[in-house]
Amino acid sequence: MAKILLVEDDKLQAKAIKKSLESKGFEIIWAENGKKAIKVAKTQHLDIIILDFILPDINGGEICRLLKHSEDTRGIPIIALTVKRSTEEKIDGLKAGADDYLPKPFSDEELIARIYASLRTKALQDELRRMNHQLMDVLAKVEILAATDTLTGLSNRRQFETLLEHEFNKTSRYESPLSCLLIDIDNFKRINDKYGHQAGDTCLKEIAEIIKNNVRKVDTVARWGGEEFCVLMPQTVKENTMIPSSRICTAIAENAFSGYPDKITVSIGVASIPDPQITTPEKLVKAADLAMYQAKAKGGNRVEFS
Ligand code: GH3
Ligand code: MG
Ligand code: MG
Ligand code: MG
Repeated sequence: MAKILLVEDDKLQAKAIKKSLESKGFEIIWAENGKKAIKVAKTQHLDIIILDFILPDINGGEICRLLKHSEDTRGIPIIALTVKRSTEEKIDGLKAGADDYLPKPFSDEELIARIYASLRTKALQDELRRMNHQLMDVLAKVEILAATDTLTGLSNRRQFETLLEHEFNKTSRYESPLSCLLIDIDNFKRINDKYGHQAGDTCLKEIAEIIKNNVRKVDTVARWGGEEFCVLMPQTVKENTMIPSSRICTAIAENAFSGYPDKITVSIGVASIPDPQITTPEKLVKAADLAMYQAKAKGGNRVEFS
């Protein structure tokens, strides 16, 4: 049953309205002034507010404005009770945010008809709000999906490039360091050739997990290409990438993979800024890539720095 806040300073009128509405099954909370009205509106779950516009403390228009500006009370329909029938006063009430108005004196029937009309509007608005929330949830999910690599659950290349650009610009502005790791699996083709593509996929997933478990939460791990991963380490100088990068190298080399009995190793290249040669985000990745090829040329399973 609908819960109604009746704001009316005239005790006799309030009593009469309350009685008539209660006989229709509505639950009525009575407030005799503006202060109490606002308190009730903020603390109770209301369906409608019937608001006398002339009150001893705060004027009705002010109350309307206050409630319509506040996120938690905005959705409650307000029926303004006005005394004068002047158009000006009606307009003022509606301008202040009242959803409907009723000039005094009014009949019980008219008030009840307006309450039902307001309840119907509110139900539609609530439904619209609910659907809007659902839509926002779906949009958020789509956004995450668009940024995620489906096989590993890591950030995909596009997302990585966006973050890289953002971090690179921030770094240039504040002269803070930034490091990038490029990780390529050694002889990955052999895994696919020996045990099939599915086993290769399982290894990729497990390697992604190992990399993630060996970096900080603020670092971004992404799948850069087929069997290549990138890690972006904000606020990190080159020297401070040595421990995490060799930890990744060792953890992978020592891991027992579930779909593959042999050992797997990776080659890691690291590049960092500030570096006078590295003036764009692309050059940072390129430098890490070159260092990675050096690691490969030296036999893999190692880290090289640009
Ligand atoms: P290197 O030591 O020089 O890096 O040799 P490699 O075999 O790792 O490198 P190469 O670039 O020659 O081959 C990479 C292989 O990775 C080729 C491709 O079949 C495989 N690959 C790329 N993406 C995927 C994937 O999503 N799943 C699987 N299972 N294999 C992939
Ligand atoms: Mg009054
Ligand atoms: Mg490769
Ligand atoms: Mg490779």
